[in-house]
Amino acid sequence: MTYKTLGIVLKKMPYGEKQSIVFVFTPDYGKIKIIVDKKKVKNRFRVEELELFSEYIFLLKKGRNFDKCIESDVFCSYSKIIENYDQILCAEYFLEIIYMITPFFIPDKNIYNLLKKIFLALSMGMGKEIIPTVLMNLIKILGLKPSLKLCSKCGFNANFKGGYLDFHDGIFTCHECGKNNISSFFISAKLLSFLNSLDNYKVSVLKKNYSKMIFLEAELFLRKYLMFNLGISSELKSAKLLIS
Ligand SMILES: [Zn+2]
Repeated sequence: MTYKTLGIVLKKMPYGEKQSIVFVFTPDYGKIKIIVDKKKVKNRFRVEELELFSEYIFLLKKGRNFDKCIESDVFCSYSKIIENYDQILCAEYFLEIIYMITPFFIPDKNIYNLLKKIFLALSMGMGKEIIPTVLMNLIKILGLKPSLKLCSKCGFNANFKGGYLDFHDGIFTCHECGKNNISSFFISAKLLSFLNSLDNYKVSVLKKNYSKMIFLEAELFLRKYLMFNLGISSELKSAKLLIS
């Protein structure tokens, strides 16, 4: 049986000499694993050119262990991304995160559309500055958005004082009321005001008003929060490259 689907390559790896395994995120089937034949060119095998940062239409054949790629056509290319090293790193960072956090065969159109939006933003010249906004969106899509505006104990707006977020249950307490739990992590007043601005301001406005340091702090904080809540402990390889 064959079927057609749109999809974006999350990760690829060689499989024997003649094939590769490709992890594809699709809108209707979620994350799937497909097998792609390498093409034979002049007695040598060449990797089938399935590029990162493109949306494909795949024709796939159902298999016992893997579905096999019969045909692939570029549906939408975001090839401008590869013209800039920072944008490549940034796109790879999100591919790695989405690969990590999505289970097999569970479709999530919101995440799929978010990934397309990321590619579009990067191909239009935006860079690392989109990371906190995108992470916050991802957290929201997954239903994990913490409320960081008011202290859950005293009820006051904590934007000027900073406070603590309990990663375990998303409960926020202000600096004066103190930690709610041992799984509470400190948020400085600056970081708190930045996180609370993510919903209300465009990335270009945020970039004007906050330092690079705050963007990095927010990336680390939101990524830790996301991974903690999804029970993922493995390191994100692309995060290190992004900071250097
Ligand atoms: Zn309080």
